[in-house]
Amino acid sequence: MAEFEPVDSQIAADTLVVGGGIAGMTTAIETAEVGRQVILLEKLPSIGGRVAAMNQYFPKLCPPTCGIEINLRRLRANPRVRILTLAEVEKVSGTVGDYEVTIKLNPRFVNEKCTACGDCEKVCEIERGNDFNFGIDKTKAIYLPHMMAYPNRYVVDPRFVGDERLKKCVEACPSDAIELDMQPRTITAKVKAIVWATGWKPYDATKIDNLGFGRFPNVITNVIMERYASVSGPTEGKIVRPSDNAEVKSVGFVQCAGSRDENHLPYCSAVCCLASMKQATYVREQYPDAEIHMFYIDVRSPGRLEDFYVARQEDEKLHFHRGKVARITEDPNTKNLILEAENTLTGEITKTEVDLAVLATGMVPNTVDDSPPVETRLDDYGFIVDEPGNSLIGTGTAVRPLDVSASIQDATGAALKAIIAGKGR
Ligand SMILES: Cc1cc2nc3c(=O)[nH]c(=O)nc-3n(C[C@H](O)[C@H](O)[C@H](O)COP(=O)(O)OP(=O)(O)OC[C@H]3O[C@@H](n4cnc5c(N)ncnc54)[C@H](O)[C@@H]3O)c2cc1C
Repeated sequence: MAEFEPVDSQIAADTLVVGGGIAGMTTAIETAEVGRQVILLEKLPSIGGRVAAMNQYFPKLCPPTCGIEINLRRLRANPRVRILTLAEVEKVSGTVGDYEVTIKLNPRFVNEKCTACGDCEKVCEIERGNDFNFGIDKTKAIYLPHMMAYPNRYVVDPRFVGDERLKKCVEACPSDAIELDMQPRTITAKVKAIVWATGWKPYDATKIDNLGFGRFPNVITNVIMERYASVSGPTEGKIVRPSDNAEVKSVGFVQCAGSRDENHLPYCSAVCCLASMKQATYVREQYPDAEIHMFYIDVRSPGRLEDFYVARQEDEKLHFHRGKVARITEDPNTKNLILEAENTLTGEITKTEVDLAVLATGMVPNTVDDSPPVETRLDDYGFIVDEPGNSLIGTGTAVRPLDVSASIQDATGAALKAIIAGKGR
């Protein structure tokens, strides 16, 4: 069985994997299944990464429960993986084959006796914005991060630890699991190889001033759309207009929102075209008559993903417009949105009115503002340059924008690189 806390102040393993998304989980499990000891370190209270926040994933349109659950089952069953959540790498010294890593363990304020019964949550009077749902709804100050959270254990938002009202939660816990005096700890880990799998975050859409995100309530982003469509989301899976919770009659998907744009992200994030087509299927399932418009510079659906694109073209009410949306304005009376686009072939300017606009924003590597504390070459956009001779091995979307299956393939390769790096030392 994979091990959590309590943790000794000095631990050792063959490979340290930083980042518990689909890439990090894959590297950890592939390494452990060939007999190596692994530490899988995640800064959040649970592993799963961004994939856990998806409603479904292309091309199979299966829920994340199927992909993540397979990996979780393998992780749960493997005694060679030690999972550290709420953990951060503070310092790395040494060299390939002989690293010493200083790790900070932040307090969860809930110990391993928690059975996730929920009694604490029921009596908790403090609410906080639910970051898993981009703040659209709320959780209690003691909460389970999300439906699939692993470890399946409650956590206390540290901002409320001194609040007297939490005492009620402590009293309600039948397992004596809440420890509000838990302190941060620092431990060291001796490892032979380090894999950096810290993934991505969405581009900040408020920076794309002409598209109105943050000013017009019915302009949302693609990651928010995933939460609206999910049964564990703020509307229990119902896609609605945020301004009035009304049903949706027309939707505009704005491709390359801030991507392939010198003023924002100059690169293509590789998944946004397919992600929007997938989200068009969410809309279609709920609203058989909705008009769906997708504005694109060019559609990128490499390899077999072309089949997914071709299948979507059978939907007569899904209109593909070749044109970049230059501006979104709002009708103040209806809160509808007017999407102004220029056809990149003919130069024709069009105006399309919709109830809801979804900005297909791209991926920014987390290494942009949280780079590894060891000499690592990053490219112009902040992705790790994965090249021989590096002190650490980058994988998944920390290296380049990738979909899930490509992240898994890349992470399997990273496991092999880590095994080779640590061999014979
Ligand atoms: C809108 C949208 C929809 C998408 N839909 C699909 C789809 O349908 N199908 C598909 O195949 N792909 C899809 N993708 C792509 C998919 O999200 C990625 O392929 C996947 O998330 C990559 O996993 P990862 O492990 O590299 O990164 P992440 O999922 O970002 O995981 C990284 C993990 O590292 C942790 N971390 C970050 N920094 C640190 C640190 N300093 N220390 C410790 N831990 C850290 C994070 O908390 C996180 O748990 C979509 C992407 C977008 C933008």
